[in-house]
Amino acid sequence: MTLSFDPANVVVPMGHHIGGRYIEMPGAEITIQRPSDHGHMGIITDGGDEAVEMAVTAAKEALRTSRWGKIAPRERAKVLMRFAQLVEDNNVYLGQLEAMGSSRLVSGTITGDAVRTAGVIRYFAEFCDKVEGTVTATEADTLSLTRREPYGIVGAIVPWNFPMITAAWKFAPALAAGNAIVMKTSELTPHTLMALAELAAQAGVPAGLFNVINGYGHTTGAAIVRHRDIMMISFTGSTQTGAIIMSLAAQSGIKPVTLELGGKSPQLVLADAGDLDTVASRVAMAFMGNAGQVCTAGSRILIDNKIADEFTERLISKTRAIKAGATWDETTTFAPIISKKQMERIDSMLRETVAQGGSVITGGGPLETRNAGSFYAPTLLENVSDDNVGFREEFFGPVATIHTFTDLEEGIALAAHPTYGLAASIHTTNMAKALKAADAIEAGMVFVNQHGRSPEFTYTAGGYKGSGFGKDMGRQGFQEFLREKAIWVNYA
Ligand code: NAD
Repeated sequence: MTLSFDPANVVVPMGHHIGGRYIEMPGAEITIQRPSDHGHMGIITDGGDEAVEMAVTAAKEALRTSRWGKIAPRERAKVLMRFAQLVEDNNVYLGQLEAMGSSRLVSGTITGDAVRTAGVIRYFAEFCDKVEGTVTATEADTLSLTRREPYGIVGAIVPWNFPMITAAWKFAPALAAGNAIVMKTSELTPHTLMALAELAAQAGVPAGLFNVINGYGHTTGAAIVRHRDIMMISFTGSTQTGAIIMSLAAQSGIKPVTLELGGKSPQLVLADAGDLDTVASRVAMAFMGNAGQVCTAGSRILIDNKIADEFTERLISKTRAIKAGATWDETTTFAPIISKKQMERIDSMLRETVAQGGSVITGGGPLETRNAGSFYAPTLLENVSDDNVGFREEFFGPVATIHTFTDLEEGIALAAHPTYGLAASIHTTNMAKALKAADAIEAGMVFVNQHGRSPEFTYTAGGYKGSGFGKDMGRQGFQEFLREKAIWVNYA
């Protein structure tokens, strides 16, 4: 069966999804374009305070009537398992919608992202009845115990680069823990999250527990963070916006936030990395997969001097063996940039990097394609010093810098970044060196002989330093949506 499809045949959801149904509301109009060809995909409106208020009211009513956080945990799990199954059953539709509206390629959305989203929901559904507390040591005739409880209503704000998956990392644990959720999609990729909310309603998730609002960050996003009945915020996005979220949360009542933010992640390639062609494919994919629009993108490539020339040549050849094209064509291997604005940002940052002393090895500008969409050439840079903007900031495009080192200590020192600490990878056949580097590097995720998150859901994702705090996925990703209560009983 071919995965390619005609975007004209895909039904695009409209409005917001509040209280278990699609709702159209007036508001500033936002036109959504397909990144592959800048074709028209739909118009959404900026929900703002009014939509957030409506969602919070629906969430309160849903928690009151369904007693979602209080029913037998197995009952919650059953509903979420039905939801997961519906997502899996609708993987073709969801995968097509995702490929049409985002940079994700159809070769990876139908059998990948959509099925994995179902897997994330199942993974967290299994946690429903595994919430445990403690009994602590006390003197006689007293009992001290702790228990973990849902917050009530939580808020979540997500970016555009993996619209379904990053959203599932939040709504699945939030619902499994017994909360209602009010989410904002990215204003660039609003559609698949609404379709997921609709499937949740069809699966029997009580109407009002899972609300999806569209709109801009500074209006709708800020309204979610500021709302006094939303008790916790889970955010994924840039470090700059993460700082705004913290400040908004502090100004509008104290509430916990978790922040999954940007990165500038190093890939250390040691001389004993193994077959250089295989390693070059892996390292190239890590900076240009999804056109580099991946928070963990390996955008700083650090190569052992002994293999630097040969390895760089191989990397260059990988950057040329791509097929840029429509995301709905299964033969496309190289993704578009999400928007014209983001293309301009990448290109102007590249010009600035060069003006500050960096030099282009390959790429360095927009890619000519038959499609009208936004495509940027995979780009390798050298001579990018520590004070260069190309070192300090995230391109969030298919751009990587190359540096070389003479021994492991120097490589580890180069891997350090003053701001970011999201991920890092080490490519070597020597496990002792790999573990030494893993110990030394300040990052929330370290990969050995791979770069990127494992498809297993057990993996805990999150950063150090300016890359954020709190975790998505794994056991801790579930715990983030619970708060702890201590109960002290004197029965003397
Ligand atoms: P962004 O920070 O511009 O936007 C993210 C979300 O925040 C969007 O929904 C946006 O509308 C909203 N937002 C913007 N301003 C806001 C405000 N003032 N108040 C409330 N919400 C606001 O990021 P982006 O461009 O959508 O995504 C790319 C960024 O996300 C990159 O920096 C990338 O590294 C990061 N990211 C991190 C992870 C991770 O797991 N660490 C995963 C994916 C993306």
